[in-house]
Amino acid sequence: MKHLVAAGLALALALGLAQSGQAAQFITIGTGGVTGVYYPTGGAICRLVNKGRAQHGIRCSAESTGGSVHNVQNVIARELDFGIAQSDVHWKAWNGTEPFAARQATLRSVFSIHPETAILVVRADAGIRQLTDIRGKRINMGNPGSGTLPTAQDVLSAIDLTPDDLALAGGLKSAEQGDALRDNKHDGFFFLVGHPNGGIKDIFFSVDARLIPLVGPGIDNLVARYPYYVHAKTPGGLYRGVDRDVATIAVKATLVTSSEVDEAVVYALVKAVFSDLEEFKALHPAFRDLTAKDMLQGLTAPLHKGAVRYFREAGLM
Ligand code: GLU
Repeated sequence: MKHLVAAGLALALALGLAQSGQAAQFITIGTGGVTGVYYPTGGAICRLVNKGRAQHGIRCSAESTGGSVHNVQNVIARELDFGIAQSDVHWKAWNGTEPFAARQATLRSVFSIHPETAILVVRADAGIRQLTDIRGKRINMGNPGSGTLPTAQDVLSAIDLTPDDLALAGGLKSAEQGDALRDNKHDGFFFLVGHPNGGIKDIFFSVDARLIPLVGPGIDNLVARYPYYVHAKTPGGLYRGVDRDVATIAVKATLVTSSEVDEAVVYALVKAVFSDLEEFKALHPAFRDLTAKDMLQGLTAPLHKGAVRYFREAGLM
């Protein structure tokens, strides 16, 4: 019976695809740690893509990865079809600056998504009241492959510190940073993430923690010097004990792909999200303030031609 059902399903699928004249095509989006916002963002995009599977024959899945740098590298290597990357990492990849050795010439923009603020979360008993107090402390800087790591390095150099000035510069993944804080193995961690999110909510629930402002002349210099950082605020009222907005810097999450990915695939993905934007926005609270217009901002690499085709059609370009 089971075999019959399976055979029937396979036949129905094959007929459906034959009718639409396409072979099934699988695409993967590289995201981030499972407790972050990238992972559910990839899931939300795929959900909308998969709704239209009968029309376009594309099946989308989101993969948990190390984050922005990993995603850009693997999109370029054609190991991933799409990846989510911080706008600063995206800029660095296109301009060929650290941590990239050269311009990633096949990098293409698709659209931008939610804003991400740089947060420095510390234990309340760590003796850290302001950014410069992290000298001599145990701070998680982000895992290799994350976008958090290069941004945290920029923040450190903005206040004339190097990782050697810390008692420990941790390389844990975002999914591990809460336990390290709770177990008092770390005094604090940097993270670049959208708000609100469940991972950070859980950490504030289970540890007495503080959110430290990223402000001062060093940070002002950073924003003045680089086009991809802006002054911003992590909103208050989202995490236990953080009642007021906390000043910091921000970037944007962006969706990237390679020029080698089919125009039809990129077109189908962009159309799936933009033609159902209200549903997309309902899939994560960090998407609350998104507008179609904003989602064309904050991009550095040229738009992929499949995205251009949709944006022209929709009158967005
Ligand atoms: N911005 C982080 C990174 O690129 C990931 C944030 C998330 O997982 O939501 O490493």
